[in-house]
Amino acid sequence: MSRRLQQIIPSHATSDGAGVSLRRSLGATQGARVDPFLMLDEFFSDDPDDYIAGFPAHPHRGFETVTYMLDGHMLHEDHLGNRGDLMPGGAQWMTAGRGIIHSEMPQQESGRMRGFQLWINLPAAEKMKPASYCDIRPEDIGEAELPGGGLVRVIAGRVTLANGEVAGPVQGLSTEPLYLDVRLPAGGSFVQALPAGHSAFVYTYEGSVAVGSPADARRVPTQAAGVLGGEGEVELHAADGPARFLLLAAKPLGEPVVQYGPFVMNTREEIEQAVADYRNNRLTSA
Ligand code: FE
Repeated sequence: MSRRLQQIIPSHATSDGAGVSLRRSLGATQGARVDPFLMLDEFFSDDPDDYIAGFPAHPHRGFETVTYMLDGHMLHEDHLGNRGDLMPGGAQWMTAGRGIIHSEMPQQESGRMRGFQLWINLPAAEKMKPASYCDIRPEDIGEAELPGGGLVRVIAGRVTLANGEVAGPVQGLSTEPLYLDVRLPAGGSFVQALPAGHSAFVYTYEGSVAVGSPADARRVPTQAAGVLGGEGEVELHAADGPARFLLLAAKPLGEPVVQYGPFVMNTREEIEQAVADYRNNRLTSA
């Protein structure tokens, strides 16, 4: 059994925060989600006008946000008093739970800013748990060279390679997320078993990848998400020169999703409550 390319979700240029240019694939429309993944943004610019405004203080409730930096320097601050320096190759894992108010501001006035923000939904039973925040330094991320060239970085979950297992710093969440950053040389490939029943997708950010055995592989173009259907292992090939991509998988929740901006709950009433709580300065209080 193997995974096959089921659907391509292209990315669209948009902006968020106080005017940060980015490309949104998952989450660009209500239907473009891969349960429990709600949204994936890629930001990549050498022009400070595209990122300097940053993401000033704003709220979230009901899900988790994961920021992964390739280049640049951002500072995270939140109402709990956490301060996290996001540096190249590092990440942050924030669980909004019942409520968090945070900002992410660039700490540079020029140069390249490049990375990703992913939103992962929480099950109904965990949407109102206390907020938490985890800074992941570059050296905390699991890393292994691939046979035949290439590199895999493991931010969450674990991978099994010919030379052993590599675990990421984020473990034990109920959605069991796998978050990999993979780099392949031209002609390189990456094969990985994914847990039965888990949703999965790849997001190519350099080059393109072909999904499946070379005989019947289908290609995910640059800056697009490829949703992986079927079961079993996924076989990915650098299809056109070197390739870099994210591979994400997690246990689907199968629950209703009602989103209003930065609040993601199960019902309209819960969204109205979140909006009211935010207006009354009660979003983050127990
Ligand atoms: Fe945020």
